[in-house]
Amino acid sequence: MIIRETEARSILLKHKKIDSWFISRYALNLYRGCTHNCVYCDGRSERYQVNGTFGENVAVKINAVEVLARELDPKRRRAKLYPSYIMLGGGVGDSYQPAEKRYELTRRTLQLLNKYKWPVHILTKSTLVERDLNLIKQSNQQIGAIVSFSFSSVNDEISAIFEPRVPPPSKRLETLAYFKKEGITTGIFLLPVIPFVTDLPNMIEETLIKAREVGVDFVIFGGMTLKYGRQKDYFDNVLKERYPQLVTEYARIYKGDVWGHATEEYYHSINTVFNQIARKYKIHRRIPPAVYKDILWENDLVIVMLEHLDYFLQLEGKRSSFGYAARAISKIDKPLSTMKRELRKIKGIGEKTEKIIIEILDTKSSSYYNNLS
Ligand code: SF4
Repeated sequence: MIIRETEARSILLKHKKIDSWFISRYALNLYRGCTHNCVYCDGRSERYQVNGTFGENVAVKINAVEVLARELDPKRRRAKLYPSYIMLGGGVGDSYQPAEKRYELTRRTLQLLNKYKWPVHILTKSTLVERDLNLIKQSNQQIGAIVSFSFSSVNDEISAIFEPRVPPPSKRLETLAYFKKEGITTGIFLLPVIPFVTDLPNMIEETLIKAREVGVDFVIFGGMTLKYGRQKDYFDNVLKERYPQLVTEYARIYKGDVWGHATEEYYHSINTVFNQIARKYKIHRRIPPAVYKDILWENDLVIVMLEHLDYFLQLEGKRSSFGYAARAISKIDKPLSTMKRELRKIKGIGEKTEKIIIEILDTKSSSYYNNLS
């Protein structure tokens, strides 16, 4: 591991619109690069400008906590911040990668978030997160905490090929069960499933059975992207070595899309399989509203629930204008509760959507959502 200590000028990444996958408006990258070195990691792509050899080099933002303190302190911060979970993880480096043992940036960030009473959503592949149980529990008691783990499957042997430096899925599941027992909201990001290896119906089903056994609150599913350049080259080398028979199948679904997407048909087929199995086991396919309805600003709550509805319908092969309406609402600064009579003037909002929005504003719930989720 080659560590480079750097100084950051700002830490809080502000999304233009609340992210309805993670229920977060803000994200943090305390480390740049990730020595976990998962074979499919899209942080490897040139697009994210991680310097050096991905998997070996990691930049540590040693002043991150001090900068974040300035950005969160109500007396010193310049921009208005809206309540939401702050996302720790994902992006271009796991917050609990080995460097964290020495630098404790994640641990100190949790202390700071607790001081300012910000809810936190942690996404990791490392069981080192257990070290911070007390801080996470404190956050959960004060306002809210979510601990999520990402998986490409629950098969330890396959994980050893594609996720060589993280604890095996069986250990990650144990850690999830541990947090669940402590009263923390927990989730699985089954993301990415690896085409023709871990996207098979029996493998998805196995993961969802384990998810149910552990009692996680949700499972979020997604397929893999392979961007041309470092990410695809690295992945292809492993594929050729371990699964040479799949090379032509990959060429069939990854056709050089600039974002590294596979074909629509492929994603549709795996999403349909996931949807059927998740419904069979009654597993939430998005973070349930009970986890955030008392935290978010009302407009954000409406946006998240509309985007979730759009997703549920897509999974059933139906189209909706809910996603379009959510994007239009994200550009509005006024609280929607002050605009109830004008909702229909917003693009994408017809009679049905208006009714759903008013129910959400009045009750923080939606009967239509409850039926679909
Ligand atoms: S743990 Fe996450 S960020 Fe780190 S290499 Fe794996 S996929 Fe990438």
